[in-house]
Amino acid sequence: SAQSNSGKTYVIGTDITFAPFEFQDINGDFVGIDIDLLDAIAKDQNFQYEIKPLGFNAAVQALESNQVDGVIAGMSITDERKQKFDFSESYFESGVVMGVGANNDTIQSYEDLKGHKVAVKTGTEGYSFAESISEQYGFTIVPFDDSSQMYDDVKTGNSVATFEDYPVLAYGVTQNNGLKIVTDKEEGGSYGFAVSKGQNQELLQKFNAGLTNLKASGEYDQILEKYLGEGE
Ligand code: GLN
Repeated sequence: SAQSNSGKTYVIGTDITFAPFEFQDINGDFVGIDIDLLDAIAKDQNFQYEIKPLGFNAAVQALESNQVDGVIAGMSITDERKQKFDFSESYFESGVVMGVGANNDTIQSYEDLKGHKVAVKTGTEGYSFAESISEQYGFTIVPFDDSSQMYDDVKTGNSVATFEDYPVLAYGVTQNNGLKIVTDKEEGGSYGFAVSKGQNQELLQKFNAGLTNLKASGEYDQILEKYLGEGE
């Protein structure tokens, strides 16, 4: 019941660097859409939490083994994941795109990947998508634990491309991350907050109730605007 959990601090796993959803600001504090949403929801629903930036795959594994209470990490709601996790209502639409070096004019489509390496993040939709087409287009997958390592691999030229979530890569491009997007969005899951299947149901209910309140009050839109600018 809410009573018995009133003193509990929920431990929430997240990615290390996945701007604009989670990243460190100039002071080393974790900020971003996910972090601000969680904070506003916790205030609205009166619960305590602690953020653990574990990296995406590690956070998902920690959730599966109940070492954390929840994950907010731009985590896509997929049918496969629903076998292991319960998700909140979705709070952001996503999809996977291909990124290449900003000055690369030779890699423009999946066909151009033949014989090359492609950088992806372990355990992500981008990884699954790359895997699903790697044989057909004849490229090799190079796995990384976080997005910045993956982008570096493309910028140094070891990999010619990366598959990444559209909202993250599009944001990175506006921040001059050295990459550009060359393909249309492949359909992907929307982002949701996750708990282990059947666990922490009161936390999940609070997340959903808080999200509904934030949407009604305009605070949800304010958080998006803060990171994405007006018009989002
Ligand atoms: N949305 C993607 C997924 O859930 C990537 C998440 C991430 O890299 N933080 O697989």
